[in-house]
Amino acid sequence: MTASSGSETLGFETEAKQLLHLMIHSLYSNKEIFLRELISNASDAADKLRFEALSQPDLLENDSELKVQIDFDEKKKTISIADNGIGMTREEVISNLGTIAKSGTAQFLESLTGDQQKDSQLIGQFGVGFYSAFIVADEVEVLTRKAGTPADEATLWKSKGESEYTVENESKAERGTTITLHLKKDEKDFAESFRLRSIVKKYADHISIPVLMEKQDFVETEENEKDKKKKEIEYEAINDAKALWTRSRTDVKDEEYKEFYKHISHDFEDPLEWSHNKVEGKLEYTSLLYIPGRAPFDLWNREAARGLKLYVQRVFIMDDAEQFLPLYLRFMKGVVDSNDISLNVSREILQKDPVIDSMRSALTKRALDMLAKLRKKDKEKYNEFWVQFGQTIKEGPAEDFGNKEKIAKLFQFTTTASENDLQEQGLEEYVSRMQDGQDKIYYLVAESLKAAQNSPHLEIFKKKGIEVVLMYDRIDEWLMGHLNEFEGKQFQDISRGELDLGKLEDEEDKEQQEKSAKEFADLVTRIKKNLGDKVKEVRLTHRLTDSAACLAIDEHDMGAQMRKIMEASGQAVPESKPIFEINPEHPLLVKLDKEADEERFGDLVAILFGQASLAEGGQLEDPGEFSARLNKLLMELTGKD
Ligand code: ADP
Repeated sequence: MTASSGSETLGFETEAKQLLHLMIHSLYSNKEIFLRELISNASDAADKLRFEALSQPDLLENDSELKVQIDFDEKKKTISIADNGIGMTREEVISNLGTIAKSGTAQFLESLTGDQQKDSQLIGQFGVGFYSAFIVADEVEVLTRKAGTPADEATLWKSKGESEYTVENESKAERGTTITLHLKKDEKDFAESFRLRSIVKKYADHISIPVLMEKQDFVETEENEKDKKKKEIEYEAINDAKALWTRSRTDVKDEEYKEFYKHISHDFEDPLEWSHNKVEGKLEYTSLLYIPGRAPFDLWNREAARGLKLYVQRVFIMDDAEQFLPLYLRFMKGVVDSNDISLNVSREILQKDPVIDSMRSALTKRALDMLAKLRKKDKEKYNEFWVQFGQTIKEGPAEDFGNKEKIAKLFQFTTTASENDLQEQGLEEYVSRMQDGQDKIYYLVAESLKAAQNSPHLEIFKKKGIEVVLMYDRIDEWLMGHLNEFEGKQFQDISRGELDLGKLEDEEDKEQQEKSAKEFADLVTRIKKNLGDKVKEVRLTHRLTDSAACLAIDEHDMGAQMRKIMEASGQAVPESKPIFEINPEHPLLVKLDKEADEERFGDLVAILFGQASLAEGGQLEDPGEFSARLNKLLMELTGKD
């Protein structure tokens, strides 16, 4: 059948069906947010029309005052939200309201647990837009006509939110969209004048077009009811319809900033922080940047929409303008309104415009400053931020060379001085605690916090009371490849190369080291001969106090973490062998040195080498052989009596 003919019944796409089911059975406690979502959509529709009308003024059809009008009928238990925005064609209705285009939907649906209470929380985190109407309504009608199409080419969409909806041709004199909700029995109170008005007011305050409701200048008595029928209903705007970012900071309440964030981000939850700025001078623009409270479901999806909402002289131009912020700040939401960009700018032009480059670097600095300030001002909030977006920020130094130092200041780690398992130590704090004579920032990369904390490489640092940064995020080794120094202090991976504590070593240490080098020279050669090409080198070490041996990696070899990442992505990994380091202070080594039986010597070396691999979180090359050798020694031990 042709899409423009009469009535047809269609099934919702699978993902849409799942979301609707969730909505209908939702225990989401904040039911009133359906109004926010619908008003928000109406306002977006007005924005889109105004934008289209820049090149096609006819679209405004002598009706250029864009607005939203909200009506209700207490008796019929209905609420309607009408806009004179862009409207939708029949095809658009089907694809916009019958399918879900939002990225991250699949991840969201996968994360559902089946536990209604928990899932309702997740709904809040995901945000469902138009479908939130079904939280309160058991039937929804959408009557819409696209701007510029004839009055008899409107479309009526109807659904009870189950598995299907119908679409049919209708006529509609005014362009735009009217959404009518038939409230569920339990939710009929939403169609009550006072309540509805106060909710609408809350969600309309930051909207930049008038939101109209029936004038409420008389008490509703039976007399008045009759009067009302006689009189034509008068409407009044219940918001001041001024774009929020054009208002002065001191005039905007926190609550309004938060609601505006929800409007532009489609997030149901409050933002963590925001920064609102007007820039004057060579470039003139206003920006309002938000840090979300929680990472979206599609943060790691390369194709996910990101970027700011772009306005030019208060006219909406586009969503997701990605050109204004670097990729590692992709979680930021917000608005930028420029006076220096042409109204007919396109995505392609944005990519080449030097004005945009200047704005991008200014906005990046603004965003980094906002984060730095938050860290100083509210450590707890910043920790929340770090848990959500720390990994994204760690992409920074590789992408944004110029801001390396600023970005590094935002990093948080666990260190050997941490009192809990949270990553909450900054590099500035580390540097401020450095010992006299310490000129490096020492760090260790491991599989997990536990593995890091128990690494034998830490032994000497613990003994000398030198703090070490413990890194165990997947991205850390890669990150450190892009970060050489901080505040003039070099970074030093303590499991790499020969241990050099520089001025932190005293004369006594050095004498002792020279002495043992002579003493154990033969043992080192003997072990090397024994292990053969399993190792790159065997050498004495002074990094150990308790362990007998450990593995180190050569200065420029790839570490275990990078190796795993590359292997997982199917890339060829360059071969590299570990350096086997032995602790001359350890009694086992002294015994080993005296072991005359070559076979027994070989068993002991193999076990020490195996243990050192295990302590690194590595795997044994031949676990069976390792166990056999260990058991042989155990048998000797237990068989003595
Ligand atoms: P979102 O607004 O996050 O894209 P919704 O589910 O709320 O998701 O809406 C889906 C789409 O339906 C919107 O992107 C828009 O294209 C269309 N739409 C919704 N409401 C309106 C409206 N009042 N006027 C025009 N189009 C609308």
